[in-house]
Amino acid sequence: MRFRSTRGAAPELGFSDTLLSGLAPDGGLYVPERWPMLDVPSAADDYATTAAKVMSPYVGDDIDGEALTSMCREAYATFRHPAVAPLVQIDDHQWVLELFHGPTLAFKDVALQLVGRLFDHVLAERSERITIVGATSGDTGSAAIDGVRHCSNVDIVILYPQGRTSEVQRRQMTTVDAPNVHTVAVDGTFDDCQDLVKAMFADPVLRAELKLSAVNSINWARVMAQVVYYVTASNALSGPVRFSVPTGNFGNVLAGWIARRSGAPIRDFIVSSNANDILTRFIEHGDMSMGEVVPTLSPSMDIQVSSNFERLLFEMVGRDGAATAERLAGFRDSGRLDVPESAMDEWIRGSFRAFRVDDAATLTEISRVHAECGMLIDPHTATATAAARELVDDADVISLATAHPAKFPDAVEQATGIRPELPGALVDLMDRPERIVRLPADLAAITDFVRSVSRVVG
Ligand SMILES: *Cc1c(COP(=O)(O)O)cnc(C)c1O
Repeated sequence: MRFRSTRGAAPELGFSDTLLSGLAPDGGLYVPERWPMLDVPSAADDYATTAAKVMSPYVGDDIDGEALTSMCREAYATFRHPAVAPLVQIDDHQWVLELFHGPTLAFKDVALQLVGRLFDHVLAERSERITIVGATSGDTGSAAIDGVRHCSNVDIVILYPQGRTSEVQRRQMTTVDAPNVHTVAVDGTFDDCQDLVKAMFADPVLRAELKLSAVNSINWARVMAQVVYYVTASNALSGPVRFSVPTGNFGNVLAGWIARRSGAPIRDFIVSSNANDILTRFIEHGDMSMGEVVPTLSPSMDIQVSSNFERLLFEMVGRDGAATAERLAGFRDSGRLDVPESAMDEWIRGSFRAFRVDDAATLTEISRVHAECGMLIDPHTATATAAARELVDDADVISLATAHPAKFPDAVEQATGIRPELPGALVDLMDRPERIVRLPADLAAITDFVRSVSRVVG
């Protein structure tokens, strides 16, 4: 299998190079040259076995089949639930797929526990090292750190805005005691952190010197690993199912679309959003226009530009890289994305519906689910279950539970009066020693720090 850029101006790569590159050199995102059809998963297979089978057409010969299966086994052994992603019924037709049983309590672990191991495997074979640099407002940083903490060929530096993450989120990053893990509290905002990372990547000399790499959600391997739970969950129920997905960067729901494209029994998708509703407006009215990001109770969905949408746009314009690049350039200049009506009919209507759930409705939903079935759900998950209840009453719908309620205890307590407890492995999180380096939002200071910790140099 070869992978091509959505902007059509970069060479095609095999799986391992796609994994290590993240973003294509023309600024595009890698997609497979074709969508393989999946085998129907065997009921006898466990999650890790199914994962290896679903991913093997993409990985091809780049990684030996047994090595892939054993990496899946190791990755999913870190989950606290033996089913990895258990499906729980909450009403006649309503189900919740719990994706938060990994080490950092958010669904990003499902992909990043595996991606860390894939990186280390490929790097070891090539006798190479890399330095991962990333910015986080919360969930991605801790999941990325946990995914690579045991990797001998990867150093990771995560920048976060000092004083602007929750205490649980910060401690999940700063208490990891591993020689290759470095967290930096930056005196600035999340945007400052992101700009610093972008500036480092924009410097070709530095990029080559430190072998800089990224693990953000545009990496193809992350999307690929997320296809798996759509396959297991849709096959667990009878008849084509619907999914309701709390959406930010569109990576998660795109993985569902790929599962359906590859033959999984899925009818359609509900894209749930909070007040940051650019995707809802697009799906309902064809209007993709940028607004201001407003902070909400579901911060991992506080996004205006959903980077992974580019992969669907590429399909919508007939897999034409130049046309994709042109439309995106227009979007950047005018703040509006133009998509022809015929493409809306073919690709959006009938496949995606959307619903916006504001903070007040999110709290009402957390409280309702708790009153009706005794289950505590986090605010991201609540946007999905609220949307599912609003839009579907006659067919099975699976809402994705993307975070553990204890990751957002304030909102859950506000809605239910109950403060959810951290699961066993994290009960002493608040007592563990933190390792923090604090630096100004200054490119030279950050670059010097990264150079001083990276084992790529020297
Ligand atoms: C990252 C995240 C999301 C958004 O997922 P996308 O793939 O960016 O759409 C939703 N919920 C939680 C808890 C997350 O961490």
